[in-house]
Amino acid sequence: MSETTEALTLTIDEHGIGLAVMDLPGKPMNLLNDELAAPLLALVDRLEQDAALKGLVIASGKKDFMAGADVDRLWALTTAQQAFDASMMFKRVLRRIERCGKPVVAAIHGMCLGGGLELAMACHARIVLNDGKARLGLPEVKLGLLPGGGGTQRLPRLVGIQAALQMMGEGADVRADKALAMGLVTALAANRDELLAQAHDWARAHPKPRQPWDEPKFKFPGGDGKSPAVVQMLAIAPSIASAKSHGNYPAITHIMSSVFEGSLLDIDNALELESRYFAACAVSPESRNMIGTLWYQLNAIKKGRSRPAQVPASSVKKLGILGAGMMGAGIAHVAAMAGIEVVLLDTTAEAAERGKAHSQGLLDQAVKKGRRSAEQREAALARITPTTQYERLSGCDLVIEAVFEDRAVKAGVTRQAEAVIGADAVFASNTSTLPITGLAKASARPANFIGLHFFSPVDKMPLVEIIVGAQTSPETLARGFDFVLQIGKTPIVVNDSRGFYTSRVFATYVLEGLALLAEGVHPRHIEQAGLQAGMPMPPLALQDEVSLSLALHVADQTRKDLAAEGRPYTPHPGEAVLRALCEIGRVGKKAGRGFYDWSDDGRSLWPGLKELYPSRAEQPPQAELIDRLMFAQANEAARCFEEGVVRSVADANIGSIFGWGFAPFQGGALQFINAMGPARFVARAGELVERYGPRFAPAAVVRRLAEQGRRFED
Ligand code: NAD
Repeated sequence: MSETTEALTLTIDEHGIGLAVMDLPGKPMNLLNDELAAPLLALVDRLEQDAALKGLVIASGKKDFMAGADVDRLWALTTAQQAFDASMMFKRVLRRIERCGKPVVAAIHGMCLGGGLELAMACHARIVLNDGKARLGLPEVKLGLLPGGGGTQRLPRLVGIQAALQMMGEGADVRADKALAMGLVTALAANRDELLAQAHDWARAHPKPRQPWDEPKFKFPGGDGKSPAVVQMLAIAPSIASAKSHGNYPAITHIMSSVFEGSLLDIDNALELESRYFAACAVSPESRNMIGTLWYQLNAIKKGRSRPAQVPASSVKKLGILGAGMMGAGIAHVAAMAGIEVVLLDTTAEAAERGKAHSQGLLDQAVKKGRRSAEQREAALARITPTTQYERLSGCDLVIEAVFEDRAVKAGVTRQAEAVIGADAVFASNTSTLPITGLAKASARPANFIGLHFFSPVDKMPLVEIIVGAQTSPETLARGFDFVLQIGKTPIVVNDSRGFYTSRVFATYVLEGLALLAEGVHPRHIEQAGLQAGMPMPPLALQDEVSLSLALHVADQTRKDLAAEGRPYTPHPGEAVLRALCEIGRVGKKAGRGFYDWSDDGRSLWPGLKELYPSRAEQPPQAELIDRLMFAQANEAARCFEEGVVRSVADANIGSIFGWGFAPFQGGALQFINAMGPARFVARAGELVERYGPRFAPAAVVRRLAEQGRRFED
């Protein structure tokens, strides 16, 4: 027999075992929304009442089992009580599944995340299709949340407290074989038919299952919160977590508390306790910031918010890359991984081969770690053709130059490539500093010329800053945008101007750190403030990484360019520090010496720094340092928005987090102002102006928003 609702199909076989297939209409993924929750609830009623239904296999009709909860529903929760009630409602249903006295088996393929895994863990067994695509995880922490559907209670009861904390604290997912090894799943299946057959067999073989935690003698694998090993681990876990998160991510602490305290309770009380911690996370400003930016704004970007809508979708089949250095090789790698044929050109065959060897190295590692198969490696490598011959570029839809940062060299390669490629091919520059409109002068078709600014290391960094020159056509922008999505990166679109968006705002963070040093703030306080603010690297270490000489070169070039345009130049107080260190050869990590002495073992502050910049006897409070580092960036981002350099709030926020690691829990550089409220931002910026100078003067757009009682909105 067969019964169907829109989202759930139930078929019952001759043994009385039902197969429930979830398939939300009109959605690429199954989500736990009302549309699916209602038939699931009806199914549980039936399971309890219908004696003819002897067991159930839950599977998915989509390419994944389930993505998780419906974020729209979470976003709509505005009070802690609402969050608590919503979490309890879901868990009551899950609890009825596990206590119905009949076997319920999850037959999992593809992604099984968040609420999907919580549903699966409430089933009596989990069989997973082991085809390399399965991923199981609880990623809630990445949106500042806690798995509130029983995740913090069932996961540690299945895999042990330590493994559970690690998985939920990082929000990382695991593959099928790892999930089996850690005890998260019951068995693996080799193909789709076997998946359903094994799930079905399990149900028939276990007519009256109970969850292990419903057994009176249940013991946590590895011990509960009273066992000495766990107590010892829990004694240090919070300090390890806060050393990493600096207390900026309350969800991490709440997850730990929920796991630890819950391990001392029976499952029903533990589940209720979890809902209280869930409620605290759901209404926290951190989670609101993260969901707003890292979910809604990111999705809007991926859906093409900044892409000219009228241009038809495109894809790149053959890509040319000029310059097989660090960036060129990195771009070749990600493009080849996305299935694109790549011609990698350099001045010598050795240099071009070296570029391809970069991919070989990355893929060898991936194969070693089991993340790729040997066949995938060979297929990707076969797509990269190293060469010195421009003729090989014939037929490329897109060419990206990543040669030396030199106008003449870039002009030369532009002309040579354009002589070969088709008239409608797009030509992109990966320049980090040179204005695109100027570089486009070397092009015979500036409408097809665009900036695609990648970040290093290319295989890891998620962002590409697309720079629109004065003559870049909407079609070229759309094609650049489509390409960035095609290789799995996130595009933001910015207008051509000095430093574009990311480099310009990023510089204010580092330079503010240098200004603090010049004022006699102890370097350790500066570095600590950067980390506490939530930045991934402290300012002085970061400046060493990106090189002091490069930053000084950019500052000098800006001074010269502005003088040529007859415009005034106001040096940042941090610039003098750059110059002073460069003059004594302390140019950064590449030289092994900058603010730090660098060695293979790591870095240590250069002892001479305290003679060059003696620390004042009285040090400013840490909060003041943090404000300076963060206000400098947020204000510069607002100026970029006001000047039209960055075109949308979403691009500004996502660009800041993905581009230079702006504190994710703040939701990005403009959300920093929104969350605080523009009026408060203006008032505090006013204090900073009085103490530290006019660079803190709030951007006009923020003053306007403050006066009108509004916020940044797209
Ligand atoms: P790199 O020095 O590692 O590589 C440059 C490559 O270009 C070399 O292999 C060189 O042989 C080759 N080359 C030089 N002239 C050439 C020519 N006429 N024809 C063909 N190949 C030529 O430099 P990189 O760090 O990869 O930077 C390349 C570009 O990317 C620069 O414009 C840089 O500003 C930009 N960029 C760099 C970074 C970064 O972090 N390094 C980040 C973003 C953008």
